Amino acid sequence: MYCTVVTSSKSPGIGNGLTYEVTQGKLVPGQSVRVPLRSRLVDGIVLAVSEAKAESEYDMKQVAEILGNQPLLTQPTLETARWIAKYYCCSLRSALGVWLPPAPWTNALPKSVIGYSKAIAGDALLRSKKQQAILEVMHGKEWVSRQQLLHESGASASVVQTLVKKGMLREERRVEDTLTQATSEHRSRLKAIPILSPSQEEVYVSMKNDARPSLLFGITASGKTEIYARMIVDTVRAGKQAILLLPEILLTEHFIERFQELLSADSIAVIHSHLSEVQRREEWRKIRRGDVSLVIGSRSALFSPLPDIGLIILDEEHEWTYKNEQTPRYHARETAEKLCQFSKAKLVLGSATPSLESWARAKAGLYHLARLPTRYREQPLPTVRLVDLADVEFGNNYPLSPTLIEAIRERLNRKEQSVLFLNRRGVASALLCLQCRRRVICPESQLPYTIHHSQSGKPYLLDHTTGMMADVPATCPHCGSVRLHSIGAGTQRVEILLGRLFPTARIIRADSDTMQHPDDMRTLLSRMRKNEADILLGTQSVVKGLDLPEVTLAAVLVADVGLSLPHFRAGERIFQLLTQLTGRSGRSKPGEVIIQTFRPEAPEIAAAAKHETEKFLENELKMRIYGGYPPASIIVRLISRGDDAEKHAKKAYAQAISAGLKLRNETKVTVAPTLFGGGKVWHVLLRGADPQSLLSSIDLKELTVDVDPVETV
Ligand code: ADP
Ligand code: ZN
Repeated sequence: MYCTVVTSSKSPGIGNGLTYEVTQGKLVPGQSVRVPLRSRLVDGIVLAVSEAKAESEYDMKQVAEILGNQPLLTQPTLETARWIAKYYCCSLRSALGVWLPPAPWTNALPKSVIGYSKAIAGDALLRSKKQQAILEVMHGKEWVSRQQLLHESGASASVVQTLVKKGMLREERRVEDTLTQATSEHRSRLKAIPILSPSQEEVYVSMKNDARPSLLFGITASGKTEIYARMIVDTVRAGKQAILLLPEILLTEHFIERFQELLSADSIAVIHSHLSEVQRREEWRKIRRGDVSLVIGSRSALFSPLPDIGLIILDEEHEWTYKNEQTPRYHARETAEKLCQFSKAKLVLGSATPSLESWARAKAGLYHLARLPTRYREQPLPTVRLVDLADVEFGNNYPLSPTLIEAIRERLNRKEQSVLFLNRRGVASALLCLQCRRRVICPESQLPYTIHHSQSGKPYLLDHTTGMMADVPATCPHCGSVRLHSIGAGTQRVEILLGRLFPTARIIRADSDTMQHPDDMRTLLSRMRKNEADILLGTQSVVKGLDLPEVTLAAVLVADVGLSLPHFRAGERIFQLLTQLTGRSGRSKPGEVIIQTFRPEAPEIAAAAKHETEKFLENELKMRIYGGYPPASIIVRLISRGDDAEKHAKKAYAQAISAGLKLRNETKVTVAPTLFGGGKVWHVLLRGADPQSLLSSIDLKELTVDVDPVETV
């Protein structure tokens, strides 16, 4: 028997595995082994086994030891890892790495532990109460671990020793069986079943009866969480496990609260980056053993080693945080689709503003489309007012317009709550021309500069991608106007401003400086719900997604996040943000939304103000098809970094062009490469029907490959 093994050693060139011979015992894929590598023995994971030896193999080494009697990784996991390596162009070791607990992997294996078996049948001999308690625990069992024996009998180790000396127990080391959870036990974890409204019930049934991935297109506050809950309950009943992915770990609080009403607390695991290595390994073992029925977490929770996955849900599936920006550069949505396919599990993608990718797939019939077009209890959507920032006399109150100040004051008088969105934390902002409405751009990167202040307080411009600095110009470089304005004030500045305008208001600031841990979110939610705060001021990544019933005003201070960015997703992002904003207001009583913007006429802003999601998606999809952008094409980004970044990028660009020409002649597939960058970061973009086909002709040694990139494209 032969096997392919990926080792824990990071030596170059062996990331896709080595072949070993198995002379003793039987192996299955996913199992852990110890194998010789040069002069050492290293841990590894078996990827595949075969009876036949490949022709080219010579001088093959043998597996030194098979570790444990069960695979560390399941078959669907291995298949998905293979897919990740292929699709995202990384080594199998990188792809497997996301699934494995922190090294050494052997720590995650079922451990061999000391336990006892009965040596003499019949227990007529005299013995003490403690000794009797021990024998009672042993009754009817062939073997019991020492830990369990001491715990259940309440006896001390010396009593056990006495029984061993008397020859009544035999000490024996065994590997604990880790996969012994019975289906019936899973059912006992259920505490309640969510009651759905008739329209929710209809959607739930349609999703349940369709094997395809379901795109749950439900407006904000339509009750998507309840539908998820219902499907999770079904999964647990069937003795399987579910994963719920969220775009932002701070949002888990809301879901944990809800799901603890449905499932016993110890059958829910929350996976986030604040776990220590020991905790992560502990959670990994717990999940692998089948002790957990529901895993909640951000994108990496997708790689939880559940023994039998029945359901994966991505809430807010359109969020860009589902893309991993380090190798392996996977997207959790596409990866979840593959994992569901290999596990025969159901995939649910939920959003009030579906991604263009999912929308196109639903339109093509690849996904099942489930619509939930009304809020729970027919609660109306909030009314929306647009404020044109270029027309406002701010005085000293930028970015708070008189309209917005008045609206906040009304809420304070009525003892209702307001939520204010900002795009940036801290004090950073960009420079905008109020005449031509373009931002001052860095010539190197073609991206907007950010305004910073030197220690002496003098302002200057900085481009974060290239590190280029410049003086603040007196006139607009595009049109010569002197009406240059710094936009996008940060949270700290606005907090001070609000304090000045409303001295008695209780304000909570929520940004990545004040919200570091999920516990901070717990405090925030409880303060808002107990009406201990009047104004919640936060960056969008922190505030979106919250379910706060007392909020009747939601406002975005400067909506134009992506304004003039050379980014084909800018319109989509703004639309999503504004729709999220409308989702925060009026969830249980009539609410209002104020959008402050420099471009009230922009299609994405107008559509969001009118709650016209489907129309926006359809128009945007047409534009993507027309422009040849995803999802109408695929983009592969090659990133080159370091002192020779430009040289490597230009070489790759030239190779891409000649390969692209050849490809066009041979297969009629067009791929257009573009080159941009500056300083120590350069990019080559390959865009077309099959840009991956070019990669074999490009020297990738000095480059990072990013398939389906979401940033700076
Ligand atoms: P979404 O995730 O679609 O924005 P939520 O699931 O947060 O919406 O639901 C909005 C509000 O309506 C929540 O407060 C939720 O508790 C309530 N709700 C929705 N559906 C139900 C239901 N079937 N039973 C009870 N409450 C519900
Ligand atoms: Zn101008």
